[in-house]
Amino acid sequence: MSDVDCLAGLRIDVDTLRGTRLGVPALLNVLKKQGLKATIFFSVGPDNMGRHLWRLLRPAFLSKMLRSNAPNLYGWNILLRGTLWPGPRIGRRCAAIIRAAAEDGHEIGLHAWDHHHWQTCIQKMQTEAIRRDLEKGKKELEAITGQAVKCSAAPGWRCVDKVLTEKESLGFRYNTDCRGTSIFAPLVNGVQLRQPQIPVTLPTYDELISRKGISATSYNDYLLSLFHPEQLNVLTIHAEAEGIYCLDVFAEFLKKALAQNIFFVPLGDLLDFYPNPAVASLTKGSISGREGWVSFQGMQGEESHV
Ligand SMILES: [Zn+2]
Repeated sequence: MSDVDCLAGLRIDVDTLRGTRLGVPALLNVLKKQGLKATIFFSVGPDNMGRHLWRLLRPAFLSKMLRSNAPNLYGWNILLRGTLWPGPRIGRRCAAIIRAAAEDGHEIGLHAWDHHHWQTCIQKMQTEAIRRDLEKGKKELEAITGQAVKCSAAPGWRCVDKVLTEKESLGFRYNTDCRGTSIFAPLVNGVQLRQPQIPVTLPTYDELISRKGISATSYNDYLLSLFHPEQLNVLTIHAEAEGIYCLDVFAEFLKKALAQNIFFVPLGDLLDFYPNPAVASLTKGSISGREGWVSFQGMQGEESHV
């Protein structure tokens, strides 16, 4: 550790079939070249994220839809949600890729059973449905990797207190469900939970790009300027973004980061460096460049708002 100036957690979120199939192998390759390990959070159930939007772009499908008057029959929102045609099961189709990530020594965590459903419905979901989703996802991921899944990351940073309570009995070592500034023990109804939160501290590619005058050429230098040795640094990248259309930018980012003695580790490794986490509740907020609400680390001792 002596030549490391700045330690940072690297988290890779995988939301879709395309991201798993194309983005993950590319990122595994880049990380291997640099000798780095990360935490990879997989979605393993049906991919309902972009499937129907993609179908709509196909002329044959569109004309069939219009011929059958399906939008009027069912409503666009139902068609777009994937209710009529459940999306392909990512875990089943990409088991070999997920296994390869585990065999490369990366920490493997649960992102979602159904990313789209969680992101849009988590506030309304009943406790039993939340538990079922978490259990299904964890079981599927464990069957694929042959290892216990010890961490999870709520899709879209959308987490509420009932999720934290359900996760307590699923044996996770930690969770990373929100944005914030320090590792903390979550407080729910005045009770301090056992599984610490490792919040994401840095902005994502889609939150930064084309904002504040940041372009693809200035992106890496700007992002690197946000890392500080004396603070918790946790970066999320997406298999769909950094693993596919900005893979070269990300490969360059890692090179530059290492040259500046910024060293990336799986999120679980950060726990050893912060043995006495603060206590805080979850709260809700928004981030410029991101639609809707996300969960935040609340002020220490503050009452929960979720
Ligand atoms: Zn996600």
